[in-house]
Amino acid sequence: MSKFYLTTAIDYVNSRPHLGTAYEKIAADVIARYKRLCGVDTRFMMGNDEHSQNVFQRARELNKDPLEFCDEMESAFREVWGRLDISFDDFIRTTESRHRVAVTTLVSRIAEAGDIYEGFYEGWYCVSCEAFKQEKDLIDGNCPVHQKPPDWIKEKNYFFRLSRYQQRLREHYDDHPGFLEPPSRRNEILRLIEAGLEDISMSRTGQAWGIP
Ligand SMILES: [Zn+2]
Repeated sequence: MSKFYLTTAIDYVNSRPHLGTAYEKIAADVIARYKRLCGVDTRFMMGNDEHSQNVFQRARELNKDPLEFCDEMESAFREVWGRLDISFDDFIRTTESRHRVAVTTLVSRIAEAGDIYEGFYEGWYCVSCEAFKQEKDLIDGNCPVHQKPPDWIKEKNYFFRLSRYQQRLREHYDDHPGFLEPPSRRNEILRLIEAGLEDISMSRTGQAWGIP
């Protein structure tokens, strides 16, 4: 029997689920149900991303312990998914020990391969996006998504040697044309690789809410 694995993005729990959150789950649910009807062994995964600075801040605003807050939000999310009858097979929370074990194991393997190093990261950081912004993407000095100025941050971070995999990724996509779909997205990724891949920051300093 052929197998099919499907996952949605996992949601930040600093706010309640909304139409945008639901849209993705409904679309994924349709795909999962269709695959099951076709007799395909289907595993449909959903979950909550609880390790976010925004989640931590939101919990603090409410005078709550972050984990206690995440527990409440899990109920809120699950209640909505229940009402929409989303047929997920598993629901992961990033604070669960099985997630912690998986992350720790993966990062150890990456480190053993020599693909992690310490360096400095400097740049504009939008707390709401939880992402660094390029100077060229700012509009009048503001984050284009949140219309507010990002912070200039310089911190010691661990980096993943993504640049080392540029050639191998390119070869993999060339050898397996169906690996990335649809073609428009495939071309987007190929263009990104062609432009050159940079090492990426994979840690955040000064935070206790995360996986050490
Ligand atoms: Zn932003």
